[in-house]
Amino acid sequence: MTRLTRADLDAIPAYVAGRSPADLARDLGLPEAIKLASNEVPFGPLPGVVEAVTAAAAGSHRYPDPAAVVLRDRLSARYGVPADRLVTGCGSVAICENLARATCLPGDEVIISWRSFEAYPIVVAGVGATAIRVPNTPAHGHDLDAMAAAITDRTRLVFVCNPNNPTGTSVRRAELDRFLDSVPENVLVVLDEAYREFITDPDVPDGIDTYADRPNVAVLRTLSKAWGLAGMRIGFLVAAPEVAAAVRKVTTPFSTNLLAQAAALAALDQEEEMRRRCALVTGERDRLTAELRKLGQDLPESQANFVWLPLGDRSAAFGAALESRGVIVRPFQGDGVRVTVGTAAENDSFLAAAADAL
Ligand code: PMP
Repeated sequence: MTRLTRADLDAIPAYVAGRSPADLARDLGLPEAIKLASNEVPFGPLPGVVEAVTAAAAGSHRYPDPAAVVLRDRLSARYGVPADRLVTGCGSVAICENLARATCLPGDEVIISWRSFEAYPIVVAGVGATAIRVPNTPAHGHDLDAMAAAITDRTRLVFVCNPNNPTGTSVRRAELDRFLDSVPENVLVVLDEAYREFITDPDVPDGIDTYADRPNVAVLRTLSKAWGLAGMRIGFLVAAPEVAAAVRKVTTPFSTNLLAQAAALAALDQEEEMRRRCALVTGERDRLTAELRKLGQDLPESQANFVWLPLGDRSAAFGAALESRGVIVRPFQGDGVRVTVGTAAENDSFLAAAADAL
């Protein structure tokens, strides 16, 4: 058949969706299965979100506010950044795409740490740019010196994922300062802080407070994780006004949809409850880390809502072994297994299954 689509897309791996817990439970004949695979927070939507979304649904026949003005003003007040530096989007992954579209032409280079967020190479390939993968340090974190050294005349963008998905590692203030000082001013550094709210180490800087005034730094946040809105698809970017304006130009119109805007506003009213839930998650994260270390596993310290088991070649087998015990985790072939922190009871079930499987 005549080729109708770009040949270079053949090299992009297709997205592999995780198993649904309902399907797995049915196959195993269990009352339920546990999903610890997608870095969601397990406590349901924040109070008031369902009501706000339900009320907003009455206006579903109308387009939403394309500029999400009310939400942008709200984020502006909450995060202390002028609204012209903010861009909302259909999840922060869509903003990653728009950042690539706003900065890269075919043949340009984007530097990422590897392993990091799986979507980065896909997004980069989508615009015909080349992802330069700089290997993680032996401790599973970003090698910022090597990333800085990888910058060439063709580099347009660098993704720094802090904390890093899937390894949970973080870069600290001093090394990030040094790195940002070394990046040429015509290269945009994206600090992806999808898991910011789970950070408990005071040495890991808040990118918005610390770096957002730098013209070549853009900070990405999401409401999918700590704010409990993964299904609503909403994230935001803080960047220099010129960068924000360019990203807005390539953003699909109305992609911050009506219900997402309503949900975000309701969630942002619940900061205290969000923090309470995050504290439960981080307490459980530290417990999971300690328990897995007792089982002899060499885990890096996580500052996110997941932990990383660097099982190498045994990753797929471990994932399958857990699945057969009704627990869905996220194996990355040949590398490691990411386990999202669940409720205390879910984590207990995971630990029992992991002890068995290991
Ligand atoms: N960045 C990182 C590092 C992530 O892990 C994720 C979600 N897995 C995202 C961005 C995208 O999140 P969302 O599109 O739901 O905002």
